[in-house]
Amino acid sequence: MKKAVFLDRDGVINANVFNVQTGAWESPHEVDDFHMFPWAIECLSRLQDHGFQLFLVSNQPSYAKGKTSLENIEAIHQEMHAILNKNRIYFTEYFYCYHHPDGIVPGYSIGCDCRKPGTFFLNEAQKKYKLDMKSSWMIGDRDSDIICGQKAGCKTIFVQDDKTNAGRSTPDFKVNDLREAIGIISAHI
Ligand SMILES: [Mg+2]
Ligand SMILES: [Zn+2]
Repeated sequence: MKKAVFLDRDGVINANVFNVQTGAWESPHEVDDFHMFPWAIECLSRLQDHGFQLFLVSNQPSYAKGKTSLENIEAIHQEMHAILNKNRIYFTEYFYCYHHPDGIVPGYSIGCDCRKPGTFFLNEAQKKYKLDMKSSWMIGDRDSDIICGQKAGCKTIFVQDDKTNAGRSTPDFKVNDLREAIGIISAHI
């Protein structure tokens, strides 16, 4: 059976961005704010070399909250996708949730199944690609990532970040960045 690594995006692959209006670290809202961590490509390559299928699972509620446009969100995605492909990193699928229950944009401001910690996307991937979830991992920098991964039956790695006030979840491992996460996964193959 195939194994997967489910990766949160913001704070794991690219840096969170400080929003002066909210005083919080958030997703990039325009392509100029998208900065991949310098080690991300090497880390993702290693996972690929280890035979993991890669999935991105990202909550992107900024449009629903009126903070950015869908065009900007798409441009950021395309920027990342281009960098990954140029470096021969091929995600099996990218999963994005654009909803938020407390948003302001009609149609997107709803409770949904796909927003983490909901497991909708992980369950979809499991069925579609016949993944062995016990051999699969979820990496994220918020409690919602860890809870999502646990509910779906994966091992979980929490990327600690002083900027995000997470830490109530109980991940299998805590690390400081994706490099350390890859070290843990490599040691458990
Ligand atoms: Mg994140
Ligand atoms: Zn959703």
